[in-house]
Amino acid sequence: MDIIANLVEALRCLPGVGPKSAQRMVFHLLQHSRDRGLRLAACLEIVMRDVVQCVSCNNYTLHHVCDLCTQIDRNDAIVCVVENPLDVMAIEQSHSYNGKYYVLMGKISPIDGIGPSDLGLPKLLERVMTSPVQEVILALNPSVEGQTTMHYIQELLKHTKVSITQLAHGIPIGGDLVLLDAMTIGRALKKREIIDFVD
Ligand SMILES: [Zn+2]
Repeated sequence: MDIIANLVEALRCLPGVGPKSAQRMVFHLLQHSRDRGLRLAACLEIVMRDVVQCVSCNNYTLHHVCDLCTQIDRNDAIVCVVENPLDVMAIEQSHSYNGKYYVLMGKISPIDGIGPSDLGLPKLLERVMTSPVQEVILALNPSVEGQTTMHYIQELLKHTKVSITQLAHGIPIGGDLVLLDAMTIGRALKKREIIDFVD
């Protein structure tokens, strides 16, 4: 049936889902979970249609400016730069940070054709220049691309007045922020270090 084949094909847009697992998912929903399948379709439609990116931090939101950016009890003077919205969730779950965020939605990766302007880095500079930011925390994953991105941001912000810090060592090299437990993230944030500039 074409419509089933179409659904199997559509599910393959998900990371790690090949033809066999897409087929298993579709037949599982048809045989055992039609209600949940309908709910999935309804949620998917709403999220894909209505979620936008916050004009201030780039994170996903239903509004022009997201909840984290509008909360008045958060510290405007600190901005934590992360690679993606999952990192924001991981840091929020650690309950150890009360500043604002800037979500890059990726990292510099020449091999994938992703450069600084694709990550909205000029917008980060503008935000630092036009708001009362005193500290920028670079909470990027310590992969090669993460390091490249951190160096680029250091250069970008070199002539501003902000101090640039990074998470304390303890984040494993090549490790992913979202895979760390809340306590490790909290400790790495608390013991963050000022980055020395190397010219
Ligand atoms: Zn925001």
